Amino acid sequence: MSYTMNILEQTIKKNPNEPEFHQALTEILPSLQPYIDSNPKIERAGILERLVEPERTVMFRVPWVDDSGRVQVNKGYRVQFNSAIGPYKGGLRFHPSVCLSIIKFLGFEQIFKNSLTGMPIGGGKGGSDFDPKGKSDREVMAFCQSFMTELHRHIGVDTDVPAGDIGVGGREIGYMYGQYKRLANCFNGVVTGKGLAYGGSFVRTEATGYGLVYLINEMLHQHGNSIEDKTVVVSGSGNVAIYATQKVQQLGGRVVALSDSNGFIYDPEGIDLDAVKEIKEVRRGRLLEYKEQYPGAVYTEGRGIWNIKCDVALPCATQNELNESDARELVKNGCIAVGEGANMPSTLEAAEVFLKSGVWFVPGKAANAGGVATSALEMCQNSARIEWSFLEVDHKLQDIMVNIYNSISEAAEEAGQKGNYIAGANIAGFKKVANAMLQQGVV
Ligand code: NDP
Repeated sequence: MSYTMNILEQTIKKNPNEPEFHQALTEILPSLQPYIDSNPKIERAGILERLVEPERTVMFRVPWVDDSGRVQVNKGYRVQFNSAIGPYKGGLRFHPSVCLSIIKFLGFEQIFKNSLTGMPIGGGKGGSDFDPKGKSDREVMAFCQSFMTELHRHIGVDTDVPAGDIGVGGREIGYMYGQYKRLANCFNGVVTGKGLAYGGSFVRTEATGYGLVYLINEMLHQHGNSIEDKTVVVSGSGNVAIYATQKVQQLGGRVVALSDSNGFIYDPEGIDLDAVKEIKEVRRGRLLEYKEQYPGAVYTEGRGIWNIKCDVALPCATQNELNESDARELVKNGCIAVGEGANMPSTLEAAEVFLKSGVWFVPGKAANAGGVATSALEMCQNSARIEWSFLEVDHKLQDIMVNIYNSISEAAEEAGQKGNYIAGANIAGFKKVANAMLQQGVV
């Protein structure tokens, strides 16, 4: 049995009941074998054995009081996966589905993603099973303060720098940062995604969605094509989905559908993003409300967004939201490119369908790396106590996304798998981390 398959089997056995983590391992490890074959030092140094085991996992109780005076308790997590190339960096997710398996899959992916950005950041991830949906501002603040009261002792500007993810936007980051500052008696850049008034970076809010579209557009250009005039379906209607939609529209494409966890809207005329932003960002409402303003749009309860005909699909909601039959439907309807705005939104089987059908498929760890890359730019600005303009950060983001595309494309070609951006992203991300680990000895 090959080294990678052996580690895959052992790690699954050692970590039962973690299906999402197993899925991420299965997607990544086997694709590294060609690179490891030509670099036998990696196996001798036990790089994979160390890479699959987080450097540290913190799990804690988060007690808080709700508006009726009752005590509520949630679970808190921070997985500090790998610090070979820089301080741990990765978001915090607040969603009822959060469990150790989900945080480990996200943290493991984050190691490779952060390496791909070219910035000096290691991989980590955290979160809680707390659901901000339907909670008052005061309840969200109480939760965030309690969460940070424990987390603050494990993080630091040169140790671990959390950011947002599902359920953690500007509001939650603000409450957590305020509590950190109070406990640490220190104003620094320990969290990214901060408001512009207190050390945030221009473009951070837009970065993941914009970066996704910059990368996909670059890929299309290199294949003699472009996003202009393309019909695009985007899933989700949160931070990533909204700003991916905005960039597609700015570049002349037409987004015809968006979704949330209840259902999806289809507007053949093209989505009115201002209306969606008002519903989701201001009112924190449901996508169903879009129909009140646009009776010509169709709202469908439940799944089914991938049945809509499109040239480009951008899954931007959550893991495993696009399965094998969705992938077949997209291929049948003529979809030419898929870019993952979310982390692992396509199942392993769906990704296989895209590869076999010749659809240009860019996995999340490359396609959505613009968010963490801009977080790293926020860290640079905080350390230097300066602020770059919107245009300056946006140009840096565009350069980073083009570089990521080039490096995953070259790595795929070098591995004899031209156009397989899954293998390309895994190998390109792995190389730097493996080299750093080799040079740092057995730690
Ligand atoms: P948000 O919380 O802003 O939005 C998430 C969106 O996805 C919402 O529309 C939500 O619907 C929908 N959604 C969440 N969970 C489910 C589910 N179980 N089933 C169906 N729909 C769901 O999160 P983000 O936009 O920040 O994150 C989206 C994805 O992008 C995640 O996979 C995240 O890890 C990834 N990502 C985010 C980055 C960032 O910078 N924010 C960076 C890199 C990756 P509803 O409103 O109904 O909850």
